[in-house]
Amino acid sequence: MKRRVVLLGPPASGKGTVASQLKSDFGFSHVSSGHWLRREIELGTEIGRQVQVFLDKGELAPDELVLEFMEHRLQAELAEAFLLDGFPRTVAQAKALDEWLVAQGAPIEAVIFYECPESLILDRVTGRRTCARCERIYHVRNRPPQTPGRCDLCGAALIQREDDTEPVLRQRLKVYVQQTEPLVDYYREQGKLKVVDATLPSGQIYAASIEALKQ
Ligand SMILES: [Zn+2]
Repeated sequence: MKRRVVLLGPPASGKGTVASQLKSDFGFSHVSSGHWLRREIELGTEIGRQVQVFLDKGELAPDELVLEFMEHRLQAELAEAFLLDGFPRTVAQAKALDEWLVAQGAPIEAVIFYECPESLILDRVTGRRTCARCERIYHVRNRPPQTPGRCDLCGAALIQREDDTEPVLRQRLKVYVQQTEPLVDYYREQGKLKVVDATLPSGQIYAASIEALKQ
């Protein structure tokens, strides 16, 4: 099985779910740049403050900033099997990452691309509702609560997170198409790209991901 893997795809393509399943079933580390960076922001570190400025504008943080941070954090993972989720986000980041990983003797072995049409992403994300108290996630059509607008578990009000609103999502998708989608061709040319149909039910997406890592 491939050990150093990039998961690539638009928001809500299901790659985060696959990453947590692969983590528990096969022991991969799940290296989520978003998770790490959010933590830096919460802790109020210098890098967190720098990144926040860009996130507030719906933009990506600059390549140099992200690379420095990710290389520092990845150092500890190189001996293990890992999944990169949310990084690299631009071709410039991917090239710099490749150079650095090759120099460490640990190049990327496979890239799984979760292909998903924009209409489905819009439906999945804008229909999402989150419990304001326990953070359980619902969907107005696919996974509605028993009482409209109330959490089944704790009874608190369900809210739509700012990130899940259509204007914010459209901005994220625009940035994704312009800056991240070119990575599909970049990794295809390297012969590392495996494509998974992200419109499938989550069980099948997961099975296809495991197949892709065995090839
Ligand atoms: Zn709740």
